[in-house]
Amino acid sequence: MDKAVAVHPDDRPYAWAEVDLGAIEHNVRFLAERARPAAVCAVVKGWGYGHGIVRAASAAVDGGASWLGVALVTEAVDVRVHGQLHEPVLILAEPPLRQLVDVARLEGVRTTVYTAEAIQAAAKAVRDVGRNEPLPVHLKVDTGMHRVGAAPEAALHLAQLVTAQDELHLEGLWTHLAAADDPAHDGYTARQLAQFEDVRAELRAAGITPPIVHAANSGALLAHPESHYDMVRCGIAVYGIAPRPRMPQAEGLRPAMSLKARVSYVKRVRAGEPVSYGLHHVCERDSVIATVPIGYYDGVPRRLGLVGGKVLIGGEPRPIVGAVTMDQLMVDCGDDESVRARDEVVLFGSQNGASITAWDWAEALDTIAYEIVCGIAINRVPRRYVR
Ligand SMILES: *Cc1c(COP(=O)(O)O)cnc(C)c1O
Repeated sequence: MDKAVAVHPDDRPYAWAEVDLGAIEHNVRFLAERARPAAVCAVVKGWGYGHGIVRAASAAVDGGASWLGVALVTEAVDVRVHGQLHEPVLILAEPPLRQLVDVARLEGVRTTVYTAEAIQAAAKAVRDVGRNEPLPVHLKVDTGMHRVGAAPEAALHLAQLVTAQDELHLEGLWTHLAAADDPAHDGYTARQLAQFEDVRAELRAAGITPPIVHAANSGALLAHPESHYDMVRCGIAVYGIAPRPRMPQAEGLRPAMSLKARVSYVKRVRAGEPVSYGLHHVCERDSVIATVPIGYYDGVPRRLGLVGGKVLIGGEPRPIVGAVTMDQLMVDCGDDESVRARDEVVLFGSQNGASITAWDWAEALDTIAYEIVCGIAINRVPRRYVR
């Protein structure tokens, strides 16, 4: 019963994501030039936005990133221990307090703080593990994102609490912008930055001047030079994707990820016949329909076939028809008899000069490109690295 299935190397993978490490390097160089003299912190949370955390972080460092940003302590371990990278790593939110001992043990890792509990627990963790130098921490102020961060009124008190601990070093002060990529919200971004300036001034008046001040994400780096301070925290742009579609300042970025597969089956479907579950699509004429073995379990949303999604085969954009199924989808190739099983399919990326972007998917699906690249299943779609 339990016999392994013999899979010939030519038969797999059915679908894969190609990640161009040279593109990541290029993008970071592009961003570093715009950020200068501010440092670039490449954000590699979410397994490097789905690109592979260690490979993405290494390529970002090769391109000039001097810091790395992560969401989780385990991601800090990935970068520092498994990736053997020596750049400072900033954890962008307070970890669960019991994990602060791990942070205190890891060389080169610093955490964000915004509560008295975490500040005290971080100091205790440093004592408990016998760390012989202070743990750097970055105080985060919530100026309007309202996700995590200290209220501006609490910032001075928390900064003083950090400076009162011999075990801690207040290395950074930062905030996060909620809509920096959207010109329609420039007023809100200005309000957030003004609020942040007030906090900085209040700390300065009390003699507290954290050496690394930061606020910008990709959108702010590209659109709000006044937000650069000492460091910019770039995620999506590192991967060659603009934080919003058709952002002129993002021209020159190169998407690092392409999603590819091979046609598994080709047949003719008669006019009037439906394709896929629910009979949502009915062929208007006799059509060559190609089947591609990738579906919503792999990260291609079911709805993509119902909202005008396309793929490239032979350099031609061709519509996905009917609902995307769990591990297969169907493509209308019209009367093109030349399409064959094993032909390469590009779901996003380019082929013979034509291209489809993660933003094309996102706009059709009413979401953002971040969610598309992060959604390509890592247990199903192997990453193939090229340069
Ligand atoms: C994810 C994240 C970033 C990076 O944002 P992008 O829009 O991808 O550049 C920066 N800062 C914080 C706090 C984040 O959570």
